[in-house]
Amino acid sequence: RKRIGVLTSGGDSPGMNAAVRAIVRVAISRGCDAYAIFEGYEGLVNGGDMIKKFGWADVRGYLAIGGTLIGTARCASFRERKGRLSAAYNLIKNGIDALIVCGGDGSLTGADVLRSEWPGLLEDLIKEGRITIEEATRFKHLTVVGLVGSIDNDMSSTDITIGAVTSLHRICEAIDSISSTALSHSRAFVIEVMGRHCGWLALMAAVSTGADFVFIPERPPISDDWESEMCETLKKHRDLGKRMTIVIVAEGAIDKNLDPIRPEYIKKLLTDHGLDTRVTTLGHTQRGGKPCSFDRNLATIQGVEAVQAVLRATPDTPSPMIGIRENKITCEPLMKAVELTRQVAEAIAQKDFRRAMDLRDPEFSE
Ligand code: ATP
Repeated sequence: RKRIGVLTSGGDSPGMNAAVRAIVRVAISRGCDAYAIFEGYEGLVNGGDMIKKFGWADVRGYLAIGGTLIGTARCASFRERKGRLSAAYNLIKNGIDALIVCGGDGSLTGADVLRSEWPGLLEDLIKEGRITIEEATRFKHLTVVGLVGSIDNDMSSTDITIGAVTSLHRICEAIDSISSTALSHSRAFVIEVMGRHCGWLALMAAVSTGADFVFIPERPPISDDWESEMCETLKKHRDLGKRMTIVIVAEGAIDKNLDPIRPEYIKKLLTDHGLDTRVTTLGHTQRGGKPCSFDRNLATIQGVEAVQAVLRATPDTPSPMIGIRENKITCEPLMKAVELTRQVAEAIAQKDFRRAMDLRDPEFSE
């Protein structure tokens, strides 16, 4: 009887609960036992009552709740081999032989590291007398499956991540609210949105709200005089009769020298051009609240696929990551996706923005 553990890790994202619910219920209906591991890798490293067997009713009501009810954490000790040794020990002591991790690229990298180290970890646990040879033989293979839960939509090899669409909705609602006051007072607003090193939320919010200007990390302004050009564009929009100005700045926005573009700097430029300007940082409201129906559906379907991937896995299959491409659920090697995501960051660091866009999404980049 397979025992499947599930944890949520890294930044919370709306829809993670739907994923946990689907995993627990599909696991049970396929004759497996389901275990919730609380507080991300923290629960795996500490064990004890942070790992709990879950029944059908334990995930009742999960679909509509934002964040993650089984908790999440940034766990420094899991980055060390010693922490992963404890994690392996706790998995074995709970009889868990498959692990489904829902989190961002960091969490999924950690999951893959655990799996790649697994044989060595077992050897060390035997040497330290913490497990028997029989236990090591029984738990010779650890199955790991990744689900991408992140509002940033910054993972390669998938079109969308669990939580990104809800977050985009929150941002659009907030900008719509700001628009009322901007219109009334004929003001300019510079709005900072989340996304870390990914401009997806900022760009999609700009398109969805008809913003006047947007700054994203993947395509910094290249002109030496971009400040004047931006102000010229905004003036043109005003000359067409627009009574408000919205500029969206991704939190990871940079100029061509890789220096951050700060909302306060944009505010100063706009103020100097005679616009009554305010800065609004949307902050954590962007990641909170009820998941939208898309994220509930995506997380549910991907949760089902994650359990199926566990049941399909052989010792030789690389750990898969469940994604979605062109409306089809995908199951690709986790490490490939993590590696591509790393290459995007590297391309940006090398100022090769074109390559970053291509790696992120070749079609979108066109
Ligand atoms: P988000 O995109 O929302 O920030 P994330 O999963 O990328 O989510 P991280 O803080 O990067 O968030 O990672 C979450 C946890 O995953 C870390 O606290 C750590 O426990 C584990 N982790 C990350 N990278 C590694 C790694 N290279 N090796 C082992 N564990 C890791």
